[in-house]
Amino acid sequence: MINKTAKAFLLVELISGFLLTLKYMFKKPVTINYPYEKGALSPRFRGEHALRRYPNGEERCIACKLCEAICPAQAITIEAEARVDGSRRTTRYDIDMTKCIYCGFCQEACPVDAIVETPNFEFATETHEELLYNKEKLLSNGERWESVISTSLMADAEYR
Ligand code: SF4
Ligand code: SF4
Repeated sequence: MINKTAKAFLLVELISGFLLTLKYMFKKPVTINYPYEKGALSPRFRGEHALRRYPNGEERCIACKLCEAICPAQAITIEAEARVDGSRRTTRYDIDMTKCIYCGFCQEACPVDAIVETPNFEFATETHEELLYNKEKLLSNGERWESVISTSLMADAEYR
């Protein structure tokens, strides 16, 4: 009891708190000034999805629907039809990003590296509807991230 009173009277806890603050003032901060500074990302990071095209502009996706079948969250919806040249292409490719659990199975299942997960993690929205991605949105993501994606796929292939 006396010890406790003496400590309170001498402001021991207050002073030790100040000393602790003082000690950390001169240490390298562990926090970063996001969004102006960004932390390192793992090369295997799985972020926002994208649909890719071949260098000649043709869509890679052949509408095999393997990604739709394997998706554990049932987030992917595909509709497809044959083109006049006989090739099969999607007429609809939707991903409900609010269902997605970023497992990467769709990317793994794709035989032509069409659906991929980009390193982009900055795609927060204000509404649910904005996270219901359609084919147009996914293809535009592909155009935006193609150089990063192709480099990372090449590095991955070398590693394997
Ligand atoms: S990352 Fe996983 S949950 Fe998300 S769309 Fe692909 S397969 Fe589905
Ligand atoms: S994205 Fe790949 S796995 Fe999915 S339907 Fe197209 S080709 Fe098949």
